[in-house]
Amino acid sequence: MLVNLSQVLSIAEQESIAIPAFNVYNLETALGVAHAAEALYAPVIFQVYSRLFTNNLAQYLAPSILKLIEDLPVPCAFHLDHGASMAEVQKALRSGASGIMIDASKWELDENIRLTKEVVTLCSSVGVPVEGELGHVGTTKDAVQAEYTKVDEAVWYVQETGVAALAVMIGTAHGRYLQAPKLDIKRLSEIANATRIPIVLHGGSGIPDDQIRQAITSGVRKVNFGTDVCYSFLNSVRSTSEDIVGVDLFMKEPTAAVEAFAREKITLLRTKL
Ligand SMILES: [Zn+2]
Repeated sequence: MLVNLSQVLSIAEQESIAIPAFNVYNLETALGVAHAAEALYAPVIFQVYSRLFTNNLAQYLAPSILKLIEDLPVPCAFHLDHGASMAEVQKALRSGASGIMIDASKWELDENIRLTKEVVTLCSSVGVPVEGELGHVGTTKDAVQAEYTKVDEAVWYVQETGVAALAVMIGTAHGRYLQAPKLDIKRLSEIANATRIPIVLHGGSGIPDDQIRQAITSGVRKVNFGTDVCYSFLNSVRSTSEDIVGVDLFMKEPTAAVEAFAREKITLLRTKL
């Protein structure tokens, strides 16, 4: 059943766990995630990257995601990932998103607050909670790692914008890590305690399990997995027999590979230290 971002994160809060947010790109990746959620009876977040709204693919994908969620026996949310501007936010709302991320983290604090606040005002008028980002989470290819989120700025940002969840920079990055990251758990605890809202960890693919568990103990309630959804799907596509011609039959194994990946992460995020 479809719930909004805050509702799904409140389950995580009550149980002191985190909800995995899986980036889905097509019917098969969404199906894999749905199968895992159903099998483990676990709430998940289906999220779609902003590029798919920019190029209008998401308007065709969204109805499938919403139907999958409607048929699931557990509460799930449909979320815009890294909304870059008001245009993607509006398209995602129109497609039925029950959570919105606005990422204005590349701007100075004042501009980040201004844009985020504008999105919160729009989304609150239709009852959709917003995830903001403070302290830019870059990519694993960046030459220099961005500055970590500052506790006092996080408090100010949350108070001024009214976001329902906060993505922070504490040492993660998007993409494949060359070396395992080392998360700043102390800073994470300080931010979570001072802001009192669910914290979101981006760049979940490749973070060692023990650090993910520590992050959950310290207040992370949503962990994003994008890169490894792609790799689990694509690696399986590359190894699936060329003799299978029916596309629906060919897609069975890649769909199952995404399901296996999602099951693993759901279980990890539910396991307490
Ligand atoms: Zn991200």
